[in-house]
Amino acid sequence: MSLASADPTVIDPSPAALRADGSPRSYTVRTLGCQMNVHDSERLSGSLEAAGYIAAEDADQADVIVINTCAVRENAANKLYGNLGQLASVKRVRTDMQIAVGGCLAQKDQGVIVEKAPWVDVVFGTHNMGSLPALLERARHNQEAQVEILESLEVFPSTLPTKRDSASSGWVSISVGCNNTCTFCIVPALRGKEKDRRPGDVLAEVQALVDDGAIEITLLGQNVNTYGVEFGDRQAFSKLLRAMGEIEGLERVRFTSPHPAAFTTDVIEAMAETPNVMPSLHMPLQSGSDSILRSMKRSYRSKKFLGILDEVRELIPNAAITTDIIVGFPGETDEDFEDTMRVVEQSRFASAFTFQYSIRPGTPAATMDNQVPKKVVQERYERLMALQERLSHEENEAQIGQQVNVLVSVSEGRKDSATHRLSGRAEDNRLVHFAVPEGAEVPRPGDVVTVQVTSAGSFFVVADEVPGVYSVRRTRAGDAYDRRQAESCGVPTPGATPGAVNLGLPTIRTR
Ligand code: SF4
Repeated sequence: MSLASADPTVIDPSPAALRADGSPRSYTVRTLGCQMNVHDSERLSGSLEAAGYIAAEDADQADVIVINTCAVRENAANKLYGNLGQLASVKRVRTDMQIAVGGCLAQKDQGVIVEKAPWVDVVFGTHNMGSLPALLERARHNQEAQVEILESLEVFPSTLPTKRDSASSGWVSISVGCNNTCTFCIVPALRGKEKDRRPGDVLAEVQALVDDGAIEITLLGQNVNTYGVEFGDRQAFSKLLRAMGEIEGLERVRFTSPHPAAFTTDVIEAMAETPNVMPSLHMPLQSGSDSILRSMKRSYRSKKFLGILDEVRELIPNAAITTDIIVGFPGETDEDFEDTMRVVEQSRFASAFTFQYSIRPGTPAATMDNQVPKKVVQERYERLMALQERLSHEENEAQIGQQVNVLVSVSEGRKDSATHRLSGRAEDNRLVHFAVPEGAEVPRPGDVVTVQVTSAGSFFVVADEVPGVYSVRRTRAGDAYDRRQAESCGVPTPGATPGAVNLGLPTIRTR
């Protein structure tokens, strides 16, 4: 079956979305895991709303609780069963409530979930997210748990209705699945081989988001730079980046995650030559030791990795590069770990997600017999964290005195009000906390401010007032934010499209 179609998947209204008195049932989605999962949760919300459910104002009182699980992160199973344990007592009181479990862990554990937690109503996998409303309906009708897991995709998930979290920024999947076989990773087993969307479908989705007010798009894939492998175009990803540059009104383009093995010069050139592709790059290192990379089945070596960073920095001197690193992979010796420290020192990452290796059942590395003792892993991890914190701090300090353009995010709540600062992301994706000078225009989320960096921490930079620097550029994304706010209060706003899809409140953070 071809997955190339851009035809939207139609979700029919479900009688199960209505209570006996005809009022709509409410839902909430709890997301465990990575950005892919957060975006999948937007699709689950969109599918439920298409079926007639409404987002719960109070997540604890929702009629349907969906848990979108992750099998990649540590303790995923503990987190899931912890969540389900809490919900068991809630369900004893509110017997009408339904619980659905989806995502990677559901794909992996399948029927085991209802064996361990028989109060769960629906289990669905990564390949059939759009079936959720139908499965909830069947479970309610039959008074019996429904477990439905498909072994391969039936429709590309991007065709599902999507309820977007943010007015200014959107995620767009370009591919799902992965053809690599990294030995620590469960993704190939759970998400299957790489499936690529047609460039025209990707661009149409981006255009629709931009028409709706978005000014920033992040292209998503397990391995974005192999995009095109399915339809036989090795340069498809760089072409896609250049095509993104043609979309009027699109100010910021990002992507995640690339893989060093197939990261080619045409992609770096496209990044450098396409003005709206941002100078930031997440490039997963995983280990600086060549023998560990070999045993991880990562087909690049540290020299090649460092060469990519050199090439990126030569063409994009202001690029902020971030990474992922696993400490304590089976067989990692002291020398291997020192290699990682050396490569990290040389790479000067702006920040790094560092993980302690832990066994993920179902992955090849789980059965390797030379597992590193926990104490050793912990010590190495702490040393690596200390090194990276120093480097991040130094990299951020180098920004002091620079003027940066910050895309303002939705307020970070109490912290922002305590410091009297607002927050957002610079073009290189650095987190910036900035002050609004007294009497100056306060930006809306989605607007862009220009500020000067005045101090730095390891995880952010601060831009306090520097006379004559602060300015606000009102954007379409700020207008879109205003429209959402007004729609959520039922107040019509000038410029609002009549009958536009209600994209919901960006302030609801239950996902
Ligand atoms: S490239 Fe490796 S780590 Fe990334 S999704 Fe594929 S198998 Fe997993």
